[in-house]
Amino acid sequence: MTRQIKIDEDLYIGGNEFIIIAGPCAVESEKQMDIIGREFYRLGIRIIRGGAFKPRTNPASFQGLGFEGLKILKSLRDSYGFKILSEILDPRDVERAYEYIDIYQIGSRNMQNYALLKEVGKQDKPILLKRGMNATYDEWINASEYISQEGNHNIILCERGIRTFNSYTRNTLDLMSVPVMKYKTEYPVIVDPSHGTGRRNLILPAAKAALAIGANGVLIEVHPEPEKALSDGYQSLSLEEFKKLLEEINAMKSALKIN
Ligand code: PEP
Ligand code: MN
Repeated sequence: MTRQIKIDEDLYIGGNEFIIIAGPCAVESEKQMDIIGREFYRLGIRIIRGGAFKPRTNPASFQGLGFEGLKILKSLRDSYGFKILSEILDPRDVERAYEYIDIYQIGSRNMQNYALLKEVGKQDKPILLKRGMNATYDEWINASEYISQEGNHNIILCERGIRTFNSYTRNTLDLMSVPVMKYKTEYPVIVDPSHGTGRRNLILPAAKAALAIGANGVLIEVHPEPEKALSDGYQSLSLEEFKKLLEEINAMKSALKIN
């Protein structure tokens, strides 16, 4: 049985519902988030993603707006009731970010940052634990145990692709981890086709495959102007493309009799 992770009074990850979490790679401005917020509200999206602290490979790249970014996310929560998923990089920021974040994201690069895992393990909010880009299933499970041993069992696993010899896609999306992690753990598993493929035109087929293989949801990068995005624009859907994805996923959900 998959553990149901409570996100809101009537919203759980790990139940019968296939949850779509979406938003930009990074929070860039109030205007950007306002456009997304208005549209997502209309579309019925309930959990918004947005990075305020960005773990960039190159230190010269945009590092995120930090707490200013979290404040923008909080204003969307206040206006529309969205739940906020955002990544934390530094154990020292965990408590300070508590009031802004509803689900703490631990990114791929930090899956084995044990100080950070222990710190979020002390919080009473859900944790989305991304798979390390080089992590085996057992290493991923061990990482989850660093969180749960501190008392927090509200863990959502997120497959985001691993490094392989294949260079066509940014990562190789290992969808088999979905059933494997469901056999081996009690946690829900969601799939991130954006980082998993790194290519805008592969996100829909990857999301459909995630639904078919039994994932509890998907995490998708969306930007009002992907070509101008400060990070990950090439793998971000425009709002139009995102709407189309929702239509296709909804059609598939009806065919599969999934909520
Ligand atoms: C992200 O979600 O924007 C991100 C940095 O993802 P990952 O940790 O999977 O690379
Ligand atoms: Mn990203």
